[in-house]
Amino acid sequence: MNRKEFLHKSAYGALGAVALSQWLWACRKTELFEEGDYSGKVVVIGAGAAGLYAAYLLRSKGVEVEVLEAADRYGGRLGKLEGFADYPLDLGAQWLHGKNSILGDLIKRTDTAISRDNSESRFWFEGELKRSTPVDIADAFSKEDLPDVSFLDYADQQGWGRGSAYEYIVEWAAGDQGAGAEAISAFWNIKEEENWSSGEADFKFEQTFFDLFNNHVVPTIADRIRTNTVVNRIDYSGSSIVVTDQQGQTYTADKVIVSVPLPILQDGDIQFTPALPSAKVAAFQKLGMGPGMKVFLKFSEAFYPGNIVGGAVCAAYADEREGKSGSDHVLLAFVMGTQAQKLTDLGSDQAIINALLAELDDMFDGAATAAYLDGRVQNWTTEPFVRGAYSYATVGVGESRKTAAEPIEDRLLFAGEAMNLNGHHQTVHGAVETAIREVTRIFESAQ
Ligand SMILES: Cc1cc2nc3c(=O)[nH]c(=O)nc-3n(C[C@H](O)[C@H](O)[C@H](O)COP(=O)(O)OP(=O)(O)OC[C@H]3O[C@@H](n4cnc5c(N)ncnc54)[C@H](O)[C@@H]3O)c2cc1C
Repeated sequence: MNRKEFLHKSAYGALGAVALSQWLWACRKTELFEEGDYSGKVVVIGAGAAGLYAAYLLRSKGVEVEVLEAADRYGGRLGKLEGFADYPLDLGAQWLHGKNSILGDLIKRTDTAISRDNSESRFWFEGELKRSTPVDIADAFSKEDLPDVSFLDYADQQGWGRGSAYEYIVEWAAGDQGAGAEAISAFWNIKEEENWSSGEADFKFEQTFFDLFNNHVVPTIADRIRTNTVVNRIDYSGSSIVVTDQQGQTYTADKVIVSVPLPILQDGDIQFTPALPSAKVAAFQKLGMGPGMKVFLKFSEAFYPGNIVGGAVCAAYADEREGKSGSDHVLLAFVMGTQAQKLTDLGSDQAIINALLAELDDMFDGAATAAYLDGRVQNWTTEPFVRGAYSYATVGVGESRKTAAEPIEDRLLFAGEAMNLNGHHQTVHGAVETAIREVTRIFESAQ
């Protein structure tokens, strides 16, 4: 199961791959920061991929930097599950979507072991597992001339929507993009990724995506990360910016990089003084970020034939053993959008696991319950400082992402996956690219 599996079939994806964008090239070049000097202090809000990488770059140039992180650990939507199987698992991001990126470069430079994900998928269709379906839903949603309506409305118009045998295959296609089929725009989903340039194949880490950061980004900045620090005010009315946390402690900076997940901005967790421009606030609201969870199910045997697409409870199951050196059989339920909300509403991890086992039992004549050993739920929707999976394009989203990402006075800066304008939102390398963009902006402001 490759998260970007279907999108990259699109014409836009292919174009992006051929022409490595100018911007990405600039990104790679500026990582070296041959020139540039900045003597101010920078505070970074959020220690996810974007925040960590921004701090790493700033520190490498001797800039005074402090990272304020609300949770009791760093990593954000990167996390590691150890001890569940005889190989480590990713609680959040796990696939490197294309090697042609700044993270592809880091992986190469550090000899980090990755392998191409060649796993195969079967479709649950008309009560059977099939290799393909008469209508290729992935292909259908990869066209660049689709209308600006939701996946579900478009599917309804085509006769493969609500109540049809394709209903949950459409849900998978939307879920792959982090959304429920009723919420994501068929047009903007493709349009927003027209500059995708990191490559088509997906790769898995022999260890985890979290380890890449933990081993190669965090070491030089570990002493600059302050966890359990929930920022709730940023006052940029004076010549210095004053950041205040929930305990009332203040931090003064010349520049601030805000790299919190979109719902934190949408829900107004951080009060800005002066208030952010209304167009920017409206742009936050126009972007989407829906529910998402990963459920790891360990079995005594692999009764499943690889990945399974199209379940009514979970539209995407993935064989976690793919690319790992270990023998335990772990099936991942990758649940997004409406399905993730429905499972969250069940109220307990055990109820979630039971619902998934019941669906698998139905597909495999009771084999799931018979082989079940253990389960673990990682619900990103209920993580207090994340509240969802990743950002997506809503119907009518237009240029909202651009407005959302705009800096204020060149000193209040916005980073994170939702602020990526290069078609790489929803990804770790996309989050990192925004860090590079904003650190570059800081150095440029000093020239
Ligand atoms: C289930 C799932 C699977 C995914 N799979 C993949 C994948 O396979 N490949 C891929 O490339 N991407 C994947 N992604 C997306 C990827 O994880 C994200 O795009 C990326 O990690 C986001 O990084 P970030 O720095 O923008 O945000 P985050 O990692 O969310 O970091 C933001 C940080 O801000 C902190 N914060 C929030 N509020 C405050 C506050 N008030 N004060 C201080 N700190 C605050 C948060 O605690 C968090 O640590 C997946 C995501 C999910 C949820």
